[in-house]
Amino acid sequence: MKRLGLNKGRYHGEGLDVAEYLREFHAAALAHNWTPQHFATIDNFELHGYRRTPPNPRRIIYISTGIHGDEPAGPVALRRLVDEDQWPNDADLILSPCLNPTGLQLKTRENRHGIDLNRDYREPQSEEVRAHIAWLNQLPRFDLSLVLHEDWEADGYYLYEVNPEKIASPAVHIIERVRDLAPIQPDSTIDLLWQCESGIIRPNLPPHERPLWAEAVYLIVNKTRLSMTLEAPSDFPLPFRAEAHVRAVQSALF
Ligand SMILES: [Zn+2]
Repeated sequence: MKRLGLNKGRYHGEGLDVAEYLREFHAAALAHNWTPQHFATIDNFELHGYRRTPPNPRRIIYISTGIHGDEPAGPVALRRLVDEDQWPNDADLILSPCLNPTGLQLKTRENRHGIDLNRDYREPQSEEVRAHIAWLNQLPRFDLSLVLHEDWEADGYYLYEVNPEKIASPAVHIIERVRDLAPIQPDSTIDLLWQCESGIIRPNLPPHERPLWAEAVYLIVNKTRLSMTLEAPSDFPLPFRAEAHVRAVQSALF
């Protein structure tokens, strides 16, 4: 699979019909016994989290995506995972499929007011992130959080692992499983800051030294001790990137 060469200066790939996506995701989740938790109405879009708790769960896993509007592969992948309904039966699962409907509609990273929601978790200004945090705060802590993104500049798939206590982590396994399908990002510097080696970045900047917090920073401070941010290269066809995310999530869960 070769890069499309579309992404000149920004993302120029496929978009998503957000209203249809939210409607169909909601129907699919209900059909598979997920419990919806409404946490915001943004313009006319109803935003939900979803939870499904089996009897006697041994772990709680959180999966989030749809926070950057120019990154449709995460939402598409999460929809597929809900449709396929293959989940570990020992995991209490919590999903956040779409936090930025206005950005997804416009195919912009930011919401329609120009706010990058994924930099808004320290002193939240946006309605979306305020509502998201209020919802997160009434949930239990997570054993693992998976946050699905895309990188329009990347040559291959990679992930950020934040794991301060160095507990058992699926990071290497995720990359090995994705490698069967998609190119892995060559060793390189991402965003002029992070060293990516064998598809993995282990950021070492403490949260209090960061002026702007991503969702993953908020999660590592407040909700979990193991966070993976998964980055698909978005200069490839959308179904291919979504498939890479599906494989990555499944390899983290099983
Ligand atoms: Zn992103």
